[in-house]
Amino acid sequence: MIDKVHVAHSGVTATLNLARETIFWPGMSEQVRQRVQNCNVCMEFRDSQQNPPMQSHEIPQYPFQFISMDVFFTEYKGKKRKFLITVDHYSDFFELDILPDMSAETLV
Ligand SMILES: [Zn+2]
Repeated sequence: MIDKVHVAHSGVTATLNLARETIFWPGMSEQVRQRVQNCNVCMEFRDSQQNPPMQSHEIPQYPFQFISMDVFFTEYKGKKRKFLITVDHYSDFFELDILPDMSAETLV
């Protein structure tokens, strides 16, 4: 089971989060942590998989001058759905749109 939740070789936190969503046994967290910390693949690529440094942007002067968008998946009203989130960096106003599909036409 640990191999299954660590198949993407994500870090300890991401592997533990996935494990906690799906399975449980006593001592699971420590066993997952040890397996990830001793994973040969993770060790080999550890130095090249560093997170990029946080980058800031200019402070916008008016609403919707600078926005960010992203797509995410979550369960909503009992169904797994795709959402598009749009955030205005001036006001922190955000808007959620449910996407019926992932086509470019729908996203645009
Ligand atoms: Zn690994």
